[in-house]
Amino acid sequence: MAKDFDAIIIGAGIIGAATAYALARKGWRTLNVDKLPAADYGSTSGSCAIIRPYYSTVDGSALAFESHYYWRDWPAFLGVEDERGMARYVDCGCIVMKTEGNGHLASILETMDRIGCPYEHLSPEQLTARLPIMNTDSFAPARSPDDPGFGQPNGKQLSGAVLFPTGGYVTDPQLATHNLQRAAEAKGAVFRFKAAVERVLIENDRAAGIVLEGGEVVRAPVVVNVAGPHSDKINRMAGVEDGMKIKTRALRHEVAHVPSPAGFDFEANGTVYSDNDVATYIRPEIGNHILVGSEDPECDTREWVDPDDFNREFTDQWTTQVMRIAQRIPDLGVPSRAKGVVELYDVSDDWIPIYDKSDLPGFYMAVGSSGNQFKNAPIAGEMMADLIEACENGRDHDRDPIPFRLRYIDRTVSLGFYSRRREINESSSFSVLG
Ligand SMILES: Cc1cc2nc3c(=O)[nH]c(=O)nc-3n(C[C@H](O)[C@H](O)[C@H](O)COP(=O)(O)OP(=O)(O)OC[C@H]3O[C@@H](n4cnc5c(N)ncnc54)[C@H](O)[C@@H]3O)c2cc1C
Repeated sequence: MAKDFDAIIIGAGIIGAATAYALARKGWRTLNVDKLPAADYGSTSGSCAIIRPYYSTVDGSALAFESHYYWRDWPAFLGVEDERGMARYVDCGCIVMKTEGNGHLASILETMDRIGCPYEHLSPEQLTARLPIMNTDSFAPARSPDDPGFGQPNGKQLSGAVLFPTGGYVTDPQLATHNLQRAAEAKGAVFRFKAAVERVLIENDRAAGIVLEGGEVVRAPVVVNVAGPHSDKINRMAGVEDGMKIKTRALRHEVAHVPSPAGFDFEANGTVYSDNDVATYIRPEIGNHILVGSEDPECDTREWVDPDDFNREFTDQWTTQVMRIAQRIPDLGVPSRAKGVVELYDVSDDWIPIYDKSDLPGFYMAVGSSGNQFKNAPIAGEMMADLIEACENGRDHDRDPIPFRLRYIDRTVSLGFYSRRREINESSSFSVLG
């Protein structure tokens, strides 16, 4: 087969760039194509870039715990200098409230014990000593601000929290993606921007390349869908969606940035903080701001959208999130001007990603990242490279899933966990928590 590259990767977000780097390290000649003007102008640019080890499944948690070490050793992992500088990982740790809704974290802590992830219990007094802006009243269940019960404590006190020291956040997800681009380029990878894929080329019953807007054909025997919220559109171009039990679709989400209450430097002394009782998570943001995201409570309507046609303005979603966290942080001001991010998650049916082949030989996908795979991107790239190499060498990954070694935490996961053909994983939180 005539080819211009060994593999074409559709998308140059954090996972697309990581896949290029991992394949290029194996000696593959890769091309990333992205319709936007630079790496990471897509959904990665709006990522909260939180690194935290707790997920609802053992495999999900193991991968996330492992990711901490990739970010901790980021410059060594990349092995290049980026003229723009290196993304910074602030490993401030993560605090999670123990609530009735999360079973006081019993199952999560059992998982942490299984994977050897460290944690520490905090009493309510220890929590408020560390984060004095918070109270420990319970407000559950999460409500809409127009519910008459909104903002009323339910009379119970929260029993404390758990601190996970191996976590934090990356200050600039765009820069992290650019770092990966430079690392991949140093190994021979090529990136092309302002190039929209219009069609996946199929010849002799296998992927053979792409057709760009304007008609240009680029040939490669391997095509990888890493198109983020456009993943379903690309899968349809390849005609592979009928062979998938798990599908993906775009979900609109708003993230708020609000000033920390006067007298407390949340940027310097805050942590990542997850609170199921008020269905929000927060982390420090530059300028002594608090970044506020939603944990998708039952009472909220989910906004499934067309990724090419959605509202980029802030709505009531922004205000609701800020008012919810203001229950926990009573001195938080609610600014009249909304600041933050409006972006899309690429959500799978069970909020667990698909890192897999497809029924079309030569066509692969790293999709369905469900608002929670920024942290895992460097590992996802390596998993995809191993999977592609094994399948192209004849392995039947559907019957005999390939294993992947998590070298820092000394554990092996099966990539069958991320199969497009899995049954819906009922252990999932069915939320951004994964
Ligand atoms: C608001 C928000 C908060 C998040 N917070 C966290 C967090 O705290 N922690 C965490 O771990 N994860 C988080 N995530 C998830 C994480 O950011 C994503 O999982 C990750 O960024 C996805 O990267 P990607 O490379 O798959 O997709 P993207 O960054 O979306 O890249 C896909 C690229 O494909 C390109 N593309 C699409 N269609 C075409 C086409 N036809 N032709 C050419 N190019 C195309 C797009 O232009 C885009 O650049 C968050 C996500 C969002 C939106």
